[in-house]
Parts: sequence; structure tokens; C-alpha cells
Amino acid sequence: MTTGKNEHNIPVRSLGSEPEKPAGDAGLKTILDNLDAMVYVADFKTHELLYMNAFGYNILGDFQQGQKCWQVLQDADSPCSFCTNHLLLDSSGNATGVHVWEFQNTVNKRWYQCRDQAITWTDGRLVRLEIATDITDRKNMELALQSAQQRAEAASLQDELTQLNNRRAFFQLGGQFLKQAKRRNTPIAAIMFDLDHFKLINDTYGHEAGDAVLREVGRLLLAEVRESDIAARIGGEEFAVLLPESSQEHAMELAERLRNTLDGLKVRYKQTMLRPTASFGVAMLSPDDDRLESLLSRADEAMYLSKADGRNRVHLFPQF
Ligand code: GH3
Ligand code: MG
Ligand code: MG
Repeated sequence: MTTGKNEHNIPVRSLGSEPEKPAGDAGLKTILDNLDAMVYVADFKTHELLYMNAFGYNILGDFQQGQKCWQVLQDADSPCSFCTNHLLLDSSGNATGVHVWEFQNTVNKRWYQCRDQAITWTDGRLVRLEIATDITDRKNMELALQSAQQRAEAASLQDELTQLNNRRAFFQLGGQFLKQAKRRNTPIAAIMFDLDHFKLINDTYGHEAGDAVLREVGRLLLAEVRESDIAARIGGEEFAVLLPESSQEHAMELAERLRNTLDGLKVRYKQTMLRPTASFGVAMLSPDDDRLESLLSRADEAMYLSKADGRNRVHLFPQF
């Protein structure tokens, strides 16, 4: 047996005058038809399907001579947009070797690991050989794991009750905003608010009533803030909004709008209409703030001014 390369730089094995191997054509067909993988061959240029083993036609049905690979193998009426032929030859037309990829078949929706390469067919023309192994079980497990991971990640940053950012997300995202603002020398405003006499709602109507109020406040807050702002539930009945590139006037306006909207909010719980209010504090990033906590603690101080001042109002942390 001699080995060499043809004009496409594809290794070819010349059988020369070697004696025929015991398997013979029938043996090779038996082996191919019992492989636990689909094997097919299609003309590189015309996409005509030239060969498919039993694994393929047991799933997709047999094919007629002249049918294209995309007609038989995929649910397509023109060559597939994801065809890998262009990856199997280099710019000089030489075979690049085996290209391995994963793909969900459009006919039976199962996942396959595909190993594609350009080879020379028995009549000398260039063809595409694909060996596709069913990896659906592994892929489904992988996808389930991936989505569980995404859910867990989302849950670790999201407040379950209100779907707002939780405290961890607030400090994580806010920390990045703070760095950026300091680098660019742009302002950041923080608004904090705490629901008034919330314990009374819980004590009078029960914890579930309190939860219903918190959910509504979350909804209201999400509707009022810009997408670039960070709105979060940072404690039991405490909320915060971080406003990047926001002036003090804008922050005060938003705080007043939130206070006013909340003041008008009616939350139906069973037979009762609950009317929550909240006290607000606003503070601006100062050049000395290295941590988000300093900005937030000034917003918190301003919020306590609102509490002391009779609740349901907005105070700005005094600027000196
Ligand atoms: P103030 O106006 O001074 O803020 O009075 P307050 O009653 O709102 O403040 P306090 O800190 O005394 O009470 C807060 C209450 O919030 C107590 C706690 O049970 C309740 N709370 C905290 N987290 C939750 C929650 O997730 N759900 C419910 N329903 N209640 C919560
Ligand atoms: Mg509180
Ligand atoms: Mg409170």
C-alpha cells in the first residue's frame, strides 16, 4: 500500500496491487450501516447527495439519485445557511482537515456532533464527508445545566419578591458606576426611600399584605426609572436608586415624582385598600467618596431627616 496526496492536498491511499481485504465491499457496507453515527457524502459543488448510511436513512428516509443534501438532511428549500463547505477548503482549494461542530437538525430536532471534511470521491471529484453522532442526551443535560446556572445567577442578583436588583446587585453594579463616574468626573445621584410605618401594615393585615405592598412598590419603581439607572430593594422595606450622570435637580425631581406616585398608590389586599407612603433621601456623589457606602449613608441620613420631619417627604443631604 502506498500513500500520497492528490491535487487537493488530500491524503489518498493507493491500494495498488494489494490483495483485497477480507471485509470486501459487502463487509464495509455492513460496518457503515451498523455505525452508531450518520455518515453521508455530498458533491461539494452541486450538493447532490451521493451516499448515506443506514443510520441516516432510518431517520430521514431513503433518497433518490439527484436529490440535494439540503433536501434530504434538512428542512430546507435551498442550500443551508450553516453549510460548512467553505471551512473545509483553504483559499488554494486544499482540504483543511476535519471541522468539528455541534448542530440541532432541523428535521428531527436532535443534536449532533458533526465531523466534516473534504475528500476525493471515487470518480475524482471533490465531496463533503460528514460523520454525525447523536449527542442529544448530553446536549439536553448541558442546556438544562446552563439554564439552571443562568437562573441561579439571576436569582443571586435579583430580589425574588419585587424582581428588582437585590442589595448585592446594587453594590456590584453601583461599584462599577462609581469607578466610571470618578474616572470621567461625571456626577452620580442616589435616592433612598423607606416605607412609612410599614410594621403597622404587617401587624394589622399580616405579612402577606406587606408583601403585596412591596411588590407594588417594586413595579412602580421599575416603571419610573430609566434603564440606565439601578433600582434595588436593599433591605426589608428600603429601596435605593442610583442615577449615573444625573444632576441634583433631576434626582430631586425623580424622588419627588416617586414620592407623589407612591402617595397615590392604592394596593388592594383582600377587602382592604392599603395606602403606603415613603420617606426619601437624596445625596450626590462627592469627590471624597471612594465607596458607594459613603454616598448611600448620606442618602440614608437625608431620608431620616424626612422621617423626622413627619414622613412622606423628600430631603436632600445638605451640600456645603
Ligand atoms: P418607619 O416609618 O419608621 O420606617 O416605620 P416602619 O414600621 O416602617 O419601620 P420598622 O423598621 O419598625 O419596621 C419595618 C418592618 O418591615 C418590620 C418588618 O417586619 C417589615 N418587613 C421587612 N421585610 C419584610 C418583607 O419582606 N415582607 C414584609 N411583609 N414585611 C417586611
Ligand atoms: Mg426600614
Ligand atoms: Mg419603614
